[in-house]
Amino acid sequence: MAYRNSEQRRQYMYDWAQRTKYDSCECGNRKAKKSRRCAQCRSQDYPPPRQVTDAEIAWIAGILEGEGCWTRHNGRTDWSVSVRMTDQDIIERLQAITGIGRLTFDGTPSKRARKPAWVWGVYARPHREWLTVKVWPWLGVRRRTRICELWPDFQAPQTFSGDVSALQAG
Ligand SMILES: [Zn+2]
Repeated sequence: MAYRNSEQRRQYMYDWAQRTKYDSCECGNRKAKKSRRCAQCRSQDYPPPRQVTDAEIAWIAGILEGEGCWTRHNGRTDWSVSVRMTDQDIIERLQAITGIGRLTFDGTPSKRARKPAWVWGVYARPHREWLTVKVWPWLGVRRRTRICELWPDFQAPQTFSGDVSALQAG
């Protein structure tokens, strides 16, 4: 072959992938060719979440701590927050309070003998990040560790009313 060594070949493949996978969004940012617009432009399409009270956030956090799931998809950097429950009213309330997320019915009972259930899934980046920041103060160590794995740039809030140490200090 024309490549003198594998390093050169790897570099060529990399350059080729960069050229073919990306072009420019109309705003000037880089975007994936398969997308119509860049991530920043797309994030503006999502309506902002509703105004939620501290009590509502605490309720949501309790549900998420018990039944919530922070998941990454297909080994990609994308992640989402979801809750799967057999109680349709609770799942609907999660969406009604926040104004974000999608409701689906998961009727496949075969997987690990799970019962059919309702799922509230929050996939859009501005929404999943908003939700995670809001409930963070109430979450336990296991979920916080998981979130930091999925979202390395996450800046944990320094002060929050629901944190255990804050309660102890008061
Ligand atoms: Zn753009």
